[in-house]
Amino acid sequence: MNRSRSDTLFDQARRSMPGGVNSPVRNFGRVGGSPVFMDRGAGSRVYDVDGNEYIDYLGSWGPLILGHGHPAVVEALKKACERGTSFGTPTEAEIRLAELVRTAFPSIDLIRMVNSGTEATMSALRVARGYTGRDLAVKFEAGYHGHGDSFLIQAGSGAATFGIPDSPGVPADLAKMTINLPYNDSAAVRRTLAERGDDVACVIIEPVAGNMGMIPPAEGFLETIREETEKRGIILIFDEVITGFRIAFGGAQERFGIQADMTCLGKIIGGGLPVGAYGGRREIMETVAPAGEVYQAGTLSGNPLAMTAGYETVRQLQEPGVYDRLESLAARLGDGLRAAAAEAGVPAYLTRVGSMMCTFFTDQTVDDFDAASTSDADTYGRYFWNMLDRGVYLAPSRLETGFVSLAHTEEDIDRTLEAARESMKCLCV
Ligand SMILES: *Cc1c(COP(=O)(O)O)cnc(C)c1O
Repeated sequence: MNRSRSDTLFDQARRSMPGGVNSPVRNFGRVGGSPVFMDRGAGSRVYDVDGNEYIDYLGSWGPLILGHGHPAVVEALKKACERGTSFGTPTEAEIRLAELVRTAFPSIDLIRMVNSGTEATMSALRVARGYTGRDLAVKFEAGYHGHGDSFLIQAGSGAATFGIPDSPGVPADLAKMTINLPYNDSAAVRRTLAERGDDVACVIIEPVAGNMGMIPPAEGFLETIREETEKRGIILIFDEVITGFRIAFGGAQERFGIQADMTCLGKIIGGGLPVGAYGGRREIMETVAPAGEVYQAGTLSGNPLAMTAGYETVRQLQEPGVYDRLESLAARLGDGLRAAAAEAGVPAYLTRVGSMMCTFFTDQTVDDFDAASTSDADTYGRYFWNMLDRGVYLAPSRLETGFVSLAHTEEDIDRTLEAARESMKCLCV
């Protein structure tokens, strides 16, 4: 495939932007080579600036559950655009989306719209601290909650009590207020909350880990967290920025039958425009300004275009059979990829929850971050480029989630599997 115009644009981009991109993983640093610049998308396909066509499993990192350019979304956006792009006043569009989200998430009495998932988690943390009067936050290793200072934290060495900054610029004193525990380790949750629980404001978790590859919660893990937080008055925050409307209409809370105290949303609820939201039980959310005193605001929050794209997207997901359709397409892909790896004799472990999946190139069972880390980076890099050259666009990093959309067809999946069979044959160095 010729990608010379992408290469030229990348050279140009690097003159104006750090690393040539506006978000790190986009620059292909994790797979080598230079990034593909996209020109347009339609349904399950994306087209780059050199005119190459790809079946897309990135889905803009999760939002595009309907695929690219769904006609209902595009039409509604055009109309909204003509009425005005922003007012800085309340609009009816905000109510429409808020009510729709509340029908999906019974644990959300009140919701605040923001502009990104990062903003949602940062704000939820502030609210949890304000409501409980406690400072500590518990998160899980390699759980991603956006780039807020309090979440860019690694486990400290030795006893997993105090966190250490994961990035220059995060103050060590702030990092100490975040405790990092291993994902899927119920014993660590019990032990830590027994010791420090009285000082813990919240436990925040991706109920299905989607940013260390994709790892489902172990049997009983979420239940343990729910029990241990409830008995200590700790706010349980489900970061459903990926899983919300993805693994069920009501997200992980519906799928696993567990209610969080607060929920963070993003991605799908923006339908491809910049959106985040956080919400939860009435008494907690009533601490948010102007109802209460925990301050949080936004010039473009509840933006009419973003609300419109989100509302039209989520509305499509209310159609009967939508999640069964996603399940059957994704199962076809997941089962096929597993078979392709076995056929090629490539050590691989495939995880899948609904339309979220990940192929780890390892001979281990992947149920935590340590195991995920054994996925071989060079093998993934070769697989990524082999697939790209065969017209399949995967995430340009080995520890990411692949997304199937409602725009994918059985033919798309079968073409992808053919590409995977060929790609896996030539993974050895
Ligand atoms: C993407 C993501 C975020 C951050 O959302 P942005 O809109 O990129 O700021 C937060 N949490 C999870 C689980 C995510 O996947």
